[in-house]
Amino acid sequence: MNRASRPRLLLRRLHKVMGGRGSGERRLKRVVKEIASNLEAEVCSVYLARADQTLELFATHGLKQQAVHKTRLKVGEGLVGLIAERGEPLNVPEASAHPKFVYLPETGEEIYRSLMGVPIRRGGRVVGVLVVQSAAARTFQEEEIEVLQTVAMVLAELLSTGDVIDRRELEGKTEASDEPMTLEGQKLAEGLAIGVAVFHEPKFEVTRLVADDTALESRRLKSAFERLRQQLDQMLAVADVATAGEHREVLEAYKMFAYDQGWQDRILEGIDSGLTAEAAIERQLQEIQARMSKTKDPYLRERLSDLEDLSNRLIRVAMGYSGKDAHEKLTRDSIVIARAMGPAELLDYDRKYLRGIVLEDGSPLAHVTIVARALSIPILGQAKGALSEIESGDTIVVDADGNRAFVRPTPEIEETYTSSLRHQAELTAEYAASRDLPAVTKDGVEIELHMNAGLLIDLASLEMTGAAGIGLFRTEFQFMVSTQLPRLEAQTHLYKEVLDAAGDKPVIFRTLDIGGDKRVPFLQHDEEDNPALGWRAIRLSLERPGLLRYQMRALLAAAAGRQLNVMFPMVAEVSEFHQARDIVMFEVNRVEKLGQQLPTEINIGAMLEVPSLAWQLDALLYEADFLSIGTNDLMQFFFASDRSNPRLIDRYDLLSPPVLSFLFSVVETCDKAGVPVTLCGEMGGRPLEAMALVGIGLRRLSITPPSIGPVRMALRQTNYEKLRDWLLPKLNSPVHSLRKELKSFAEEEGIPI
Ligand code: PEP
Ligand code: MG
Repeated sequence: MNRASRPRLLLRRLHKVMGGRGSGERRLKRVVKEIASNLEAEVCSVYLARADQTLELFATHGLKQQAVHKTRLKVGEGLVGLIAERGEPLNVPEASAHPKFVYLPETGEEIYRSLMGVPIRRGGRVVGVLVVQSAAARTFQEEEIEVLQTVAMVLAELLSTGDVIDRRELEGKTEASDEPMTLEGQKLAEGLAIGVAVFHEPKFEVTRLVADDTALESRRLKSAFERLRQQLDQMLAVADVATAGEHREVLEAYKMFAYDQGWQDRILEGIDSGLTAEAAIERQLQEIQARMSKTKDPYLRERLSDLEDLSNRLIRVAMGYSGKDAHEKLTRDSIVIARAMGPAELLDYDRKYLRGIVLEDGSPLAHVTIVARALSIPILGQAKGALSEIESGDTIVVDADGNRAFVRPTPEIEETYTSSLRHQAELTAEYAASRDLPAVTKDGVEIELHMNAGLLIDLASLEMTGAAGIGLFRTEFQFMVSTQLPRLEAQTHLYKEVLDAAGDKPVIFRTLDIGGDKRVPFLQHDEEDNPALGWRAIRLSLERPGLLRYQMRALLAAAAGRQLNVMFPMVAEVSEFHQARDIVMFEVNRVEKLGQQLPTEINIGAMLEVPSLAWQLDALLYEADFLSIGTNDLMQFFFASDRSNPRLIDRYDLLSPPVLSFLFSVVETCDKAGVPVTLCGEMGGRPLEAMALVGIGLRRLSITPPSIGPVRMALRQTNYEKLRDWLLPKLNSPVHSLRKELKSFAEEEGIPI
């Protein structure tokens, strides 16, 4: 029998058995018999996962029949449990020699030496394990593993009918509950949303798996690819995503996948082995999922979720549906619940009703996250249990900022959040109306409120908030969302757009701040014990000067004929500032030599994020044009307290005497040197903190756009001199925090915080 015909034959047989008469279990028994005989193995067994996470023997050919429904293994227990845990095939010639082997006397399996097994997957989950065993100590061939994987996929469809095992159990659902509950998660896109739960069903059930005519299936696949590409082109032309920006780059990169010939060829191989077009797409996806599902690399995970999204879309198209058909049509305010979602799937929903998203997985750099942020749709990610605990139609309150979602909330909770949403809408309108008012204290001290940005989509906020400029443009975002190193033209283009949008308002570009937790796909990062203290930011730029030089080239070109402000992140000592500045000057000289136009003015500054620099501040200020205090990093080093460790979040307070007196002395030193100083950490965006910072002398804050309105309103009610006289004597106090006292002060003064 040739290579392709054996699996084809097996698939045909299975198809017949599955479509035949008899109970689900009887058919399953015949299925395992067919598989054993096709693979020339004495044993074939199916284990299925119960809701309590045990794997139960459901059918076997070759093992003792009395073990069926009796033999149970935990996930991770024995070789079967190992396959389920890892989600990968296992192929061992001498099973009893494997460290994970457990002996199950009731099965009579002791006479079988070799074992090969593959996971049975459904909806991205391992729902069972398919195993063959043989008396000889043989290693199964690579092709045999592939056949078993194909069969496992076909089996998953047999199971989906619910004849063998309850569908709810298969979906990993526990007993339905109508009790209110809270799901913990992670804020991926900020905001608050209320709506009814709608399950994102990214997949159409592939019901026809075995092909009658291979040539016809190949043609169907090719034409599905054609239509998919057309659909994506149309989708990217829709107005609210058609504008340039990082979300656009994400979507373009996604589209590139659809043009990948290698992907198409691998699916064609599946058709060649006897599958229909849609089953071959699914099979190819499962193979990649099995290989990549354990990867922690965020870049690879993102590629995988793009591929899942596209594969599901291709399946729908191959089955003759449009890309949107899989989604329930939203008819009222809805919260979409999913394990993960691709960016294009999000765009399929009617934005009029899509209020928020809850994902079991998801990450801050996921493409769906970037697109959702651009569209102001809140997302709660890493919400473990969302798929099993939520029922379609449940009311859900997504409190992304609070890292949680309320499922079937009590009337009190629902009312609280509904009024909070109403209040927010009113405030947003109020802030928008106040955007032209100056940020000036009651006693006439002017404060400049700039905004932080990193995506082109943020630029619209300049106008909306009335920010004085962009005090921090995080250039690394463009690198983080690109699949390859952004070329010089792409960098220049972005910087030009930023400067054009800012017009007369100043922009401070921070040079690449990558490394640590900000990883880029095209740069090799070694695992580090302490990434926050590791090879990142300016350290990386000085060791790989090519990156910085290219970036400077782009910045100089974009700012030709206008002002250019750049600053370096994580400067720990003045000599690093010198080295980085030399690189900038090298590029400036190059532009001069080439006779190209230079910026009218170039200002070079440093970020204060590493405490050591504070002890060389006089020397730095002698040379730097400005200083920017990055409290997000600075404070984790100041307190030696990891900013990403949840156990330490409440440990230290930024409104404490040591922080405020340290910042006070930095601001004083800058003022004496006549060097402008800005604070650009998150701290400045909270009204109470902003008030305290103004009290110790800061006059410029750069904060997230939504914070500008609230901070402006608070400062307009503040009497600076009164605050200063009240606050400064407290900077030597031995207390843990001044928060409470600052709050009382604000309340007495009628400052809205
Ligand atoms: C900071 O550290 O305060 C800062 C503004 O930089 P980032 O948050 O981008 O590290
Ligand atoms: Mg920082």
